[in-house]
Amino acid sequence: MLDPIRPLADIFHYHIHIYFDAASQAKACALREAIGARFKVQLGRVFDKPVGPHPLPQYEIGVLQEEFGALLGWLMLNHQGLSILAHPNTDLERHDHSSSAFWLGQPVQLDFQRTAPSLRAIGQDAPRPVLLDSQPHLPA
Ligand code: ZN
Repeated sequence: MLDPIRPLADIFHYHIHIYFDAASQAKACALREAIGARFKVQLGRVFDKPVGPHPLPQYEIGVLQEEFGALLGWLMLNHQGLSILAHPNTDLERHDHSSSAFWLGQPVQLDFQRTAPSLRAIGQDAPRPVLLDSQPHLPA
């Protein structure tokens, strides 16, 4: 027996989080630029300290359904040994970051105390929107 089927329309958009430490920061930031030069995405700001469920320095790439598959394929070839989390953004924020997510490279232990089991339950209709701001000019 299957668990209840969730429709693809539950997904507003996706995030890809790229983690780094002092030794890999320059590489991670260069990868952020390389992604923005090839894909129409939202290039999130670089956090050099923990934020939300993310215990390590990281940045977020916001990506819409139509670009997600291509970016993931490209990252499979070009993750540079970094820890990368890909997750959908639905109403179920905690699931999005755990059982619905997957990793490239070494997984990082997230802090789920700072994620909501349901956004609607805390009065939010939807996750933060993805506002595309990159300037792709290179072939992927
Ligand atoms: Zn995220």
